[in-house]
Amino acid sequence: MLGLGNIAKKVFGTANDRKIKAARPLIEKVNDLEPEFEKLTDAQIKDRTEALAKRAMGGESLDDLLPEAFANCREAARRTLGLRAFDTQLMGALFLHQGNVAEQKTGEGKTLTASFAAYLNALTGRGVHIVTVNEYLVKRDAEWMGKVFGALGLTTGYIYSGMPDDAKRAAYACDVTYATNNELGFDYLRDNMKSELSDLYQKQHNFAIVDEVDSILIDEARTPLIISGPSEDRSDLYVTIDGVIPSLREEHYELDEKTRNVTFTDDGIEFLEEQLRARELLEEGMTLYDPESTSIVHHVNQGLRAHKLFARDKDYIVRDNEVVLIDEFTGRMMAGRRLGDGLHQAIEAKEGVDIKPENITLASVTFQNYFRLYDKLAGMTGTALTEEEEFSQIYGLGVVEVPTNVPVARVDEDDAVYRTQQEKYAAMIEKVKEAHERGQPCLVGTTSIEKSEMLSQLLTAEGITHNVLNARQHEQEAQIVGDAGKLGAVTIATNMAGRGTDIQLGGNVELRVLEALAADPDGDPVAIRERITAETADEKKKVLEAGGLYVLASERHESRRIDNQLRGRSGRQGDPGRSSFFLSLEDDLMRIFGSERLEKVLTSLGLKEGEAIVHPWVNKSLERAQAKVEGRNFDIRKQLLKFDDVMNEQRKVIFGQRRDIMEAEDLHEIAQDMREQVVDDLIDQYMPPNTYADQWDSHGFYAAVIEQLGVDVPIIAWLEEDGVDEEVVRERLMEATDKLMAEKAEAFGPENMRNIEKQLLLQTIDAKWREHLLTLEHLRSVVGFRGYAQRDPLNEYKNESFQLFEGMLDSLRADVTQKLSRIKPLSEEEQQQMIQQMLAQQRAAQGEGQRATDPAPQPAVAPPADGNPTAGFDENDPATWGSPGRNDPCPCGSGEKFKRCHGRLT
Ligand code: ADP
Repeated sequence: MLGLGNIAKKVFGTANDRKIKAARPLIEKVNDLEPEFEKLTDAQIKDRTEALAKRAMGGESLDDLLPEAFANCREAARRTLGLRAFDTQLMGALFLHQGNVAEQKTGEGKTLTASFAAYLNALTGRGVHIVTVNEYLVKRDAEWMGKVFGALGLTTGYIYSGMPDDAKRAAYACDVTYATNNELGFDYLRDNMKSELSDLYQKQHNFAIVDEVDSILIDEARTPLIISGPSEDRSDLYVTIDGVIPSLREEHYELDEKTRNVTFTDDGIEFLEEQLRARELLEEGMTLYDPESTSIVHHVNQGLRAHKLFARDKDYIVRDNEVVLIDEFTGRMMAGRRLGDGLHQAIEAKEGVDIKPENITLASVTFQNYFRLYDKLAGMTGTALTEEEEFSQIYGLGVVEVPTNVPVARVDEDDAVYRTQQEKYAAMIEKVKEAHERGQPCLVGTTSIEKSEMLSQLLTAEGITHNVLNARQHEQEAQIVGDAGKLGAVTIATNMAGRGTDIQLGGNVELRVLEALAADPDGDPVAIRERITAETADEKKKVLEAGGLYVLASERHESRRIDNQLRGRSGRQGDPGRSSFFLSLEDDLMRIFGSERLEKVLTSLGLKEGEAIVHPWVNKSLERAQAKVEGRNFDIRKQLLKFDDVMNEQRKVIFGQRRDIMEAEDLHEIAQDMREQVVDDLIDQYMPPNTYADQWDSHGFYAAVIEQLGVDVPIIAWLEEDGVDEEVVRERLMEATDKLMAEKAEAFGPENMRNIEKQLLLQTIDAKWREHLLTLEHLRSVVGFRGYAQRDPLNEYKNESFQLFEGMLDSLRADVTQKLSRIKPLSEEEQQQMIQQMLAQQRAAQGEGQRATDPAPQPAVAPPADGNPTAGFDENDPATWGSPGRNDPCPCGSGEKFKRCHGRLT
């Protein structure tokens, strides 16, 4: 029976239908223009671009230019690649241009689709970024579509990691730039550590088209990008804690597989306290509830998670004495990516490999907040509809389902549920064998490398030749996928998401066309394509007769979207095909979420060994379970984002300030404003409102003014003899400091002074910001711990981080003011040296993504004329210490570094 909603849809059509319908007239216009553009010479095609660009820059709307731009682009692609874009591709491009996620099934040709939207939007001269998931695709797509853009008269660039600086800047300056999401994010962070405008990679964030948008904006969005540098070696701590974990018994902790969280029971805490005291990690008389223990609690937590929630060969592999993470969704190695907060070290301790020093964050951003920087954002994927809500809530992106060029003919079978995994695998092998004998290519999807290898062994035992696609064979991946549709091919893959090459029956034509074109650059693409298509036609025909690609999945994934990605590999462009999911009651998803009801039903049916139950009801109940997991994962991402949003607001302020400073011609005013604030703060501190002169600490004030403003003024006399009020004090202090700074400016010369002010401002901001990031990290683990006390961690975090931020700005102003007051004129040569040194340090501080090795730069300003503590310094009174460096000896005289003594952040 049709529900009311469905009846209404039949009458009124869905919102999606309406969008498709509205698009048709525009596509017709492009089609009508086709004969005109077919007649253009190659040179005239470029002229058209120039004319269109002129109109775009003259203010004509891109919507008005769209039909001509698309017609021009279609013709260029036909000539250079031998591909005439389908109407559905133009439609997809239109939705991209409108800032949507275009859902286009696998094999519909998203790469070409994107180039239309990119071309149109690049006409404004403001650069378009096309984002893909890995560098292989970046290069492939840039070279492939670069031919089209070249024919249109546009430049194409691509970004790869470790690229020389100049080449990278040039690539970013192209009309269309291909890059991975990671590299884009890192370059953004790197840009915000630079001091020269001309050094910036990303001058603007105009329009980004994100391919495999669900992988990037949803799956990957759970891990923020971090540029970090190592802290000191704490291997011993990790090893010692790792030694405690195995002695924990089940009653000591609770493990929530659903939320991937661990918590200790009261018994567990007591037990841990004993163990930790015995190992001298916890002082006598201290408990784990004390705030001082936050860090140890944090590390024990991580140790437990490393042991209980991270499995070797599923979540990570151990290779060359290293723990390498595996992307849960694509099954690929994420070389260089490390888990944060000491978790990676905890896993290294568990595996007995070298423990690399924990990294501290120098800069970080989530993909969500990076991609929100763009004026316009669009995405493409084969599977978006299940995540429509997230795209809309987080990114403000609509999802439009683009019709396929040819109707889908694949048959999706109902799930088959077996009692045990063993029976399930046996059934799968049987099916593969049958299909293989017919010559039907099979794609076997698994959820982990371990399972891939197990299935591979079973197939080998049956004498079936096959390929295994997993994290360990990154490089040959494209070729294997390209061959997966050949007659009788059997391919096992851990998750197919983001594996860019499309599986064509009888073998991938495109790879061969590209090879042929590379060998014969002057060859006619249309003729080459025809020849290769004819050559593969025979094999393709046989594969079609054998039923097309057969997808067998060994498990349901956590989200329906990933299942759909796997299924979608079969049945491209109207090909026949089939997909089946083989499940067992022992599967993770069944164990965690599978209803007991299901098991009861199956038992009451008297399921026998080797038999399966196949019923639509099973599918439905599993989909409900998946929807629950999806919802939970969405919540996790939302939570991450809420925390990141707090930091993002602050990051925007800081990065915005940096940019202003880089752009400013004259920094004198900024420095003066800061000084004025410092003066105000000093007055507030030493002449608080509603107090009387006899309550003021005039001697302290005098010392503080020397310390922080670098001027020696008779403040004691002002306050005690002249009886002046705060207004007068403010005026006199400003006058004295203005004079001091004017003298310095005179001595340095305006150009040098500007440079010094700029470097000093930027470096102080950077150093403060990094320190602040670390404090925020600590705060996060502390508020997590406070969860015990039933307080809302996010609120706590918001309030405290706001206060910390304000505190940071105060100390930033004080630092800059103090340092500026202490610079002293140097000889011409010394000045040059100093500036060079600053620049070198600036460059050294850029960091290398996750692998950054440079700690925060030392302040690069001439040492204070008087390096010793000034008058008024009192080792018992931190208020008189000014701002000691974090690595300097603590002014209290303890002999410890400041950061470990009075400068401790928690
Ligand atoms: P998707 O990412 O949508 O799965 P791709 O962009 O990788 O698809 O393209 C898949 C294949 O479709 C490629 O081999 C490409 O050559 C082919 N293709 C794309 N557009 C067309 C077209 N208009 N006509 C013929 N083949 C096309």
